[in-house]
Amino acid sequence: MTDKKFYYKKGLGQNFLHNTSKLGQMASLIDPQKGEPIIEIGPGAGALTQRLLPAAGRVIAIEIDNEAISKLKDKIGAPDNLQVINADFMELDLASIIPVGSPRIKIVGNIPYYITTPIIEKLINNKKLISRAFLTVQREVGDRMAAREGSKTYGSLSIFCQYHALVKMLLKIDRSSFFPEPDVDSAFVMMDFEKAPELNVPDEELFFKITRAGFNQRRKMLANNVKRILGLEADEVKAAFGAAGIDEKARAEDVPLLAFAKLSGVLYNESHKKNKPDGSF
Ligand code: SAM
Repeated sequence: MTDKKFYYKKGLGQNFLHNTSKLGQMASLIDPQKGEPIIEIGPGAGALTQRLLPAAGRVIAIEIDNEAISKLKDKIGAPDNLQVINADFMELDLASIIPVGSPRIKIVGNIPYYITTPIIEKLINNKKLISRAFLTVQREVGDRMAAREGSKTYGSLSIFCQYHALVKMLLKIDRSSFFPEPDVDSAFVMMDFEKAPELNVPDEELFFKITRAGFNQRRKMLANNVKRILGLEADEVKAAFGAAGIDEKARAEDVPLLAFAKLSGVLYNESHKKNKPDGSF
């Protein structure tokens, strides 16, 4: 097809989803509602957009590539409930484009993989505005986002995403579903910011310091990593692990999110007992 030839820009992560069955499943999972605006990141030629519009109150599509926008307009015209913004999603102030008085929005996108992590970070930084995010990401990234303890893919990204949202792997999408065909398979994942776990973490910085230290040296025992990065005595670490209900010999990959949260809370309280309210030990 001639349009495919001039159309895709590798540098913008343009891999267009053409599997109509997957597109249909994605639209049903997103389940657009009249009262809930949807922001779509990188609509491309509108393959998903056109499946959201019939049920959605409003779709605000953010696309960096003007050529893609004209393609999208050729395909779906200009329905009243579609607003297309030609912009870099990373540069946009989300709050400023959400209709005044609207409830939390859904964010969707078969996102450009070259900015996967910045996009996830941006969503998390704006989580109060968002009910749920539905993202097509590289399969391996989706696995890491949704992984639970005991899995090889459970790591800092799992903790980061699951701290802020309930994360679910919804669909696996084979690379052959895209044009041009990428080198990797994909996954469609959901981050539900309204169903984030209720964790009692008094100091987020300490929490992420502990989890990162654990996963940076994932083959080592978590207790040793914690001891080292916080400069604690062995008996202090032992007591904290006991209080948090974590086996002293556990590695980070064996420790559930909730237990990490408990551990950080115990260690935070200990540092305060020592009259070091800045969280140092
Ligand atoms: N949604 C379409 C689909 O599923 O076929 C296209 C998906 S393609 C993987 C990613 C899209 O994001 C492309 O249309 C690309 O031009 C657009 N894009 C890339 N970087 C972007 C950015 N920073 N802001 C907004 N859109 C971007």
